[in-house]
This record gives sequence, structure tokens and C-alpha cells, in this order.
Amino acid sequence: MKQAVKIISKKYLTHDVLRIMTEKPVGLAFEAGQAVDISINKKGLEEELRSFTFTSLPEDDYLEFTIKTYPSHGGITQQLLSLAEGDELFVHDVYGDIIYKGEGIFIAGGAGVTPFIAILKQLEKQNEVGANKLIFANKTKADIILEEHFHKLLGKNFINILSSQQYDGYLQGYISAELIKKHINGDGQYYYLCGPEPMMQAVEGHLTSLGIADQFIVKEAF
Ligand SMILES: Cc1cc2nc3c(=O)[nH]c(=O)nc-3n(C[C@H](O)[C@H](O)[C@H](O)COP(=O)(O)OP(=O)(O)OC[C@H]3O[C@@H](n4cnc5c(N)ncnc54)[C@H](O)[C@@H]3O)c2cc1C
Repeated sequence: MKQAVKIISKKYLTHDVLRIMTEKPVGLAFEAGQAVDISINKKGLEEELRSFTFTSLPEDDYLEFTIKTYPSHGGITQQLLSLAEGDELFVHDVYGDIIYKGEGIFIAGGAGVTPFIAILKQLEKQNEVGANKLIFANKTKADIILEEHFHKLLGKNFINILSSQQYDGYLQGYISAELIKKHINGDGQYYYLCGPEPMMQAVEGHLTSLGIADQFIVKEAF
């Protein structure tokens, strides 16, 4: 089943990441961290489905998506760049494996942070951010989505690492087992993992080497 929703607003969060807000279909239910298939209501694009995570909360009366665009792919995110307020998207099925289970470490690569935007927003609203941490891997500082927001929300529990830029005060390189180990608070923590496939494989390897059991790993590849 697909439902048409109008775009309410569209703005840039970084040089290539859009925040798109739309109407919300009546009765649409999801949990913070979940995603939905989206297509564009334009001739020939209605069935070109791409997955995007809700970065609004289930109780909000609008939908919000935080979307990294790839104009060079010539795909759907390029098409989204040319849409304006009043244009329509189709919202298809809701799905997604990332759901909050308890305190731990969120580990994100690039746009893989979107489920954690929603989950941390919900925890903030419930006053339950606690000792949760976010390790956020990006190529450069300019790629960090919502840097100010996470900084204010998490303070020293917001850890950035840049793979393609050296920048004062930021870690440089890729997420390592040592980096994760340094931030483990104790047993029974959850490890939430979302990003591109190669990053996911590497980080899952690190978690295994640190003896983290599968039941404590919550993940989704983008
Ligand atoms: C559950 C889930 C949730 C997601 N949530 C989000 C989210 O909230 N925000 C977000 O930003 N992303 C999210 N993603 C990722 C998002 O779905 C993809 O980035 C998006 O589908 C890309 O669509 P596209 O049509 O622009 O490009 P693609 O579908 O990647 O590519 C379009 C065309 O370009 C080609 N192509 C692929 N790679 C390259 C390349 N490197 N150079 C040139 N051409 C290439 C492809 O072959 C294809 O023909 C999510 C993914 C999943 C699985």
C-alpha cells in the first residue's frame, strides 16, 4: 500500500544532506529507529523505491527524513534535490531492525546516523539519554550531520572520527576495536550499528574481537 504525502519543507543540514518534512498519513505507525520505503509522485518514479529512516518521532503529526544525496549516482536522491514544497512523495511499507533496547554505544557511519537521530530524540524527550554514547565516523568535518545538536545533547559522549581529514580536536582514521573498548561502560551494554556495508563489517569484527555477544548487537546496513 502506498500513500501520497506533500512536502512541507526542505532544507540543507550539510553540503549534501537534506532535511525533508512531509505530511503524515493518518494511522501510519512506526518505532523510533525504523525506516520506510519512499518513492516520488512523478511519472516513471512512482515505483522507484528507496529506504529512508524517520527522524521525526512516532507521535509527531508530520514526517521528517534526513537524506544524504548522491547527485553523481543519477538516482532517486538526485531527484529529491529538485523537489519543492507542495510536491508529493509516496510512503510505502515501514520496516527496520534498529530499535532501542537499552543503554549502550551508537556507532554510525555517515547517513547511518539517522536511526540514532530518532532514538536519541525520543530518549531526550523522555529524559533518558543517560550515559548513551555516539561514535560517529565521517570522511570530513563538513560531513557531520547535526554536529551542534549531538554536541549539546551528549557532550563528551559524542565521539567523532574523520577518515579523510585531520582536524584539531577530532580523532583521525577509522573506528577501531581500541576506540570502542575505551568507551565501554560495563557488561550488558548494547551496541547499535548502522552505516555502509564495509564499515559495518569492520565494526562487527571489532565487536566480536572484544567478546560482545550477538544478542547485544543491534544493526542495519545502509
Ligand atoms: C533501512 C534503511 C534505511 C535508510 N535510511 C536512510 C536515511 O535515513 N537517510 C539516508 O540518507 N539514507 C538512508 N538509507 C540509504 C538510502 O536508501 C540510499 O542512500 C538511497 O537509496 C540512495 O538512492 P539513490 O537512488 O540516490 O542512489 P543509488 O540507488 O545508490 O544509486 C542510483 C544509481 O547509481 C549507481 N551507483 C551506485 N553507487 C554509485 C557510485 N559510487 N558512483 C556512481 N554511481 C553509483 C547505482 O548502480 C544506481 O544505478 C537507508 C537504507 C536502508 C536500507
